[in-house]
Amino acid sequence: MGTLDAAIKDWVNERPYLKEIAQLHEIITTIVEGDVAPEVAGADANWGRTVDEFKKGIPVLRANEINEAIIENAANLLIEIIDALTAASLPDKIISYSQQAQAIFHKRTDLPGQLIEDVLENNSIQNNADLEEIDEGFIVFLAWSALSGALKPLKQQVAELLNDHQWRKGYCPVCGQLPAMGHLVRTEKGRERDLVCGCCQMKWRYRRIGCPYCDNSKQEQLKIIGLDDEPDLRIDTCEKCKCYLKTYTGEGKEQVALADWSTLHLDLIAKKHGFKRVGYQRYEV
Ligand SMILES: [Zn+2]
Ligand SMILES: [Zn+2]
Repeated sequence: MGTLDAAIKDWVNERPYLKEIAQLHEIITTIVEGDVAPEVAGADANWGRTVDEFKKGIPVLRANEINEAIIENAANLLIEIIDALTAASLPDKIISYSQQAQAIFHKRTDLPGQLIEDVLENNSIQNNADLEEIDEGFIVFLAWSALSGALKPLKQQVAELLNDHQWRKGYCPVCGQLPAMGHLVRTEKGRERDLVCGCCQMKWRYRRIGCPYCDNSKQEQLKIIGLDDEPDLRIDTCEKCKCYLKTYTGEGKEQVALADWSTLHLDLIAKKHGFKRVGYQRYEV
């Protein structure tokens, strides 16, 4: 954790406008990264079927019933995150939502698991009456944060699967959601591109040129917005679907640079240029 803390501090020192979101993120990351997700028992029973579906382009979490151990682990992480946020020095609104959630979770112990299942299935909350005044987006954001930790063993398994079976789709091989970030990496084949899921944070390889949102590969419609004061970051845009992908072109700062919250300023720039963000956005701008 020490190195990640330091990396976040360095990043924010250069971009002080991210201070508040960084504080929130640091609390959550400490919990999620500190958690040793239990090996998912029983996942292998259906693994053969999962692999067959995967080869047809079905994300792993859509191929089978979702393992209960994952839901339980994510629900526990969600409770832990909420507890930590109530005691943090963060904006009043966050503290207030967290305190309300804590109180509701005490009364309704089945609710955290239900919320996790909802978010996995629909990326939203089906019956948000239970949440009373709490902002739904806040809970969805925390649920995905908890899931990104609870899915660690599964993501590891999928990473191994990706070694043998190319995926190269514009959506996540684990949860099926859309990428929030791109990363240009140097490999033995030259420069290649990885995408990072905006929800579960899984990484997968995608073709270097082309829009992951609409599959457009016409070079003349794919333009790059470069940033004078951010030499390692850029915005890849697509004239066809008017969407954009924030991309990290550097090396060594992946943990922070690919986290999405750390490049909020790029979302603002992309919007100013008339592009829209698709897929789930963890952080409203
Ligand atoms: Zn995902
Ligand atoms: Zn496009």
